[in-house]
Amino acid sequence: MQVSGKYVESVATLCIFFAFATVLTLLLHRKNASPSTRCAALAQMATVAGALVIYCRDIFPAQLVFALSNSLFEACIFSCLLGVIYYHRLEKTLRPLMQAVAAGLVLCGGLMASIPLLTAQYRYRMLMTMPFFCLAYGLIAWVIARRRTPYRPISQSISFYLAITGLLCSLLRLIDAGTITDMFPPPSHVNFQSMLMNILALTMFGTALTLVFWQIEAQNQRLRQLAEHDGLTGLQNRRSFMEQCRQRLQQSRPVALLIFDIDHFKQINDRFGHMYGDKVLRELGEHLRTFARRDDLLARYGGEEFCLFSHDATLDQLASLAERLRASVAGLRFGEGPDCVMRITISIGGVAHPGPDTALTLESLLQTADARLYMAKRSGRNQAIVGDALIEAVAETNQRLPVSANHPSS
Ligand code: GH3
Ligand code: MG
Ligand code: MG
Repeated sequence: MQVSGKYVESVATLCIFFAFATVLTLLLHRKNASPSTRCAALAQMATVAGALVIYCRDIFPAQLVFALSNSLFEACIFSCLLGVIYYHRLEKTLRPLMQAVAAGLVLCGGLMASIPLLTAQYRYRMLMTMPFFCLAYGLIAWVIARRRTPYRPISQSISFYLAITGLLCSLLRLIDAGTITDMFPPPSHVNFQSMLMNILALTMFGTALTLVFWQIEAQNQRLRQLAEHDGLTGLQNRRSFMEQCRQRLQQSRPVALLIFDIDHFKQINDRFGHMYGDKVLRELGEHLRTFARRDDLLARYGGEEFCLFSHDATLDQLASLAERLRASVAGLRFGEGPDCVMRITISIGGVAHPGPDTALTLESLLQTADARLYMAKRSGRNQAIVGDALIEAVAETNQRLPVSANHPSS
């Protein structure tokens, strides 16, 4: 069953078009492209390269065309699988395992694909491997899909797709086998029909996958950003902060929590305007981001109230952290030009706890820290009061870290 050259070429052209479209989309959305999207694009590229190999079939020997195109289709499926792995953000321990399995399968595929380079007689055996690989990848994707509930539908559809492609390939090759009278046809006989099916199916699949991953991930990212962050400062919002703190509290690590509030912020608003107040909050947010360490959680807890959660938990460490924070904010300069310098101060309440404690709740930590923040305000502001997690012991254990003058000066 020979397919006309014109048909092959028009399909190849279609593939090249898809490739350009993908590259263009990738370039346009470079910043948003996630690893899974890149993998999908890679799959697309491999398919197109496979198509190109067939496009140039008159230049290369038939065995080479078979070997190259099949290897490239293997690469396509491998990239799709990688995309699925990245998309699911598998735990770090599982990811290398899955990658190793995928790499092993691809290696086998490559070896099988190279057989026709040695002898043309085996090329049908090689061709038959393709459906099995599709099924194997489909199975892996399905196994992955079972692990993470939120992405299950997408992964399931990918695995079904792979399985159906595999079955389709098998069917086509069965039909092909019926049309071939010679058990080992001469090398000049190149059956392009199943190849074309592969190209078409995988190209469409690659394109669809690229777009699906892209759209969903870009949207997820936007929604996550909106849901978890404060619009003005870009810091975590209260709800997301509380959620993450609760998770951290379950770890067997010491914890420390600081709540701090800008002193006399109302005066800044009254004096310079609400817009200027917003600018101060934004700049303070930027400063806090550089102050916090990677492992810390930082949030805008309320209007001009912020929270820092850290695992530096001995009282001395917490006291020094609070003091460094207070001093760094007091050193900030807001406004432009030498005549328009404004400074702010903050009052801090802090609490530390050395280890896991089932009785310790986030609410109790916040309550204790808040009580100390209130004390710091009453004691003259621009200071930090930190202590252990027992509110009853506040009076005895509080470490007060007094500092000079308060209030925003201009
Ligand atoms: P202190 O905390 O030292 O007792 O005095 P304060 O003046 O800072 O106290 P208070 O908590 O009563 O006032 C907070 C002010 O913060 C009131 C509100 O106008 C202002 N504020 C809250 N959120 C925003 C915001 O998003 N932008 C601006 N510009 N101001 C805000
Ligand atoms: Mg305040
Ligand atoms: Mg306040």
